[in-house]
Amino acid sequence: MFRLVTVAGRAALEHDGGWYDLGQLTGDEAFSAPAGALAHHGALHELSERCAERPPDGRLADVTLGPPVPDARQVFGIGLNYRSHAAESGMELPPAPLTFTKFPSCLAGPTTDVRLSGDTVDYEAEVVVVIGADCRHVPEDRAWAVVVGITAGQDISDRHVQLSGSPPQFSLGKSFTSYGPTGPAVVSVDAFADADDIALSCEVWGGAVQQASTAQLIFTVPQLVSYLSSICTLYPGDLIFTGTPDGVGMARGRFLAPGDVIVTRVDGVGELRNRCVGPDEEEH
Ligand code: ZN
Repeated sequence: MFRLVTVAGRAALEHDGGWYDLGQLTGDEAFSAPAGALAHHGALHELSERCAERPPDGRLADVTLGPPVPDARQVFGIGLNYRSHAAESGMELPPAPLTFTKFPSCLAGPTTDVRLSGDTVDYEAEVVVVIGADCRHVPEDRAWAVVVGITAGQDISDRHVQLSGSPPQFSLGKSFTSYGPTGPAVVSVDAFADADDIALSCEVWGGAVQQASTAQLIFTVPQLVSYLSSICTLYPGDLIFTGTPDGVGMARGRFLAPGDVIVTRVDGVGELRNRCVGPDEEEH
């Protein structure tokens, strides 16, 4: 099992509160690029065990982590993948995974500020699947074998931009810079007791707003990987935002405002804590 993070844009392994630069640990700079490290994920398990034998390059508490896969080649988002969220949105269940893209330039770290683009910006807590192999036409029963790990994600969405087209085109409204917080780590699949039943939650305005498990997904992770790979070639480091459960702000009639803090938790992964800032406010 391993936990992959990035420190100053370089891939590192997390072990016992410390971080270990992968380029240093392996003597191979190919490992310092996160997608490069994920392409060799077989070695990451063994390298993670080796961490116990040496002092870390630093403590996690002393650094600001970046998005664990800042160099993802493709970032897929899945809409309406929980019955509860489709119902609160007043939408019919999609017959196939309703897929959009979050352009990779929107990816942000676990504590990056979210720069609000307007007054209809919303949160969506999601479990994010990270691909670990070049693959096409993956059958469902082989799908977990091409998934290297799991991370937490926020599919921040400007509802006005997302829904104003006719027909609506989701991708740009979900791709403003900083609208893809991810992290804090990519956690290998073997760390989960049941990878098809991972709990996620979201807290904002001082209370819980979303709570669910991936056991409730309409299209499961194997179905998503199989479907997407029947159309696109998938690459190491590609991300799939698997969808959000009910409880989003749009259904509550309340949107994000400067000063709000979004806390996103995925069991076995950890937490994202992102503060919202206005268009002209200084960011951290
Ligand atoms: Zn979403």
